[in-house]
Amino acid sequence: MESARTPVVSGWFTEDGPDGAGFRLLGTRCSACAAVFFPREDAYCRNPHCPGDGLLAEVPLSPRGRVWSFTDGRYRPPAPYVSDPDAPWEPYTLVAVELEAEGMVVLGQTVPGVTVADLAVGMEVEVVGGVLNEDPQTGTAWTTWRFRPAGGSA
Ligand SMILES: [Zn+2]
Repeated sequence: MESARTPVVSGWFTEDGPDGAGFRLLGTRCSACAAVFFPREDAYCRNPHCPGDGLLAEVPLSPRGRVWSFTDGRYRPPAPYVSDPDAPWEPYTLVAVELEAEGMVVLGQTVPGVTVADLAVGMEVEVVGGVLNEDPQTGTAWTTWRFRPAGGSA
């Protein structure tokens, strides 16, 4: 049975981007000051210098950016982090990426197999869809965003 792909957080990304461009993170842009927000801000503009009265519209964010910093998680975090203590801990790589057009820094995990040894500050990376975990009970694949070196074919 094919798992139903369901976003971990609704409205933060699309797997079927504008003009068929594929996976894109989604933010919002203020029509008054052009400030862009991710995570999306739908209630009001958070720019203190905004002249106000702007409307917040959804915008796809840059598909690429450059590595700003990175680290890895080799040990299980303490509570209140939720994880199964009986399951083996799977190390993951966390990367902070400065998006090409927006200049904002977005955090995310790398695709499986990309470790800190594969990354360098300033390296170009691209955002792709990935699966955070699958729930065989409900047949749900919880999807999220991942980063990988640009031009990869993983
Ligand atoms: Zn604004």
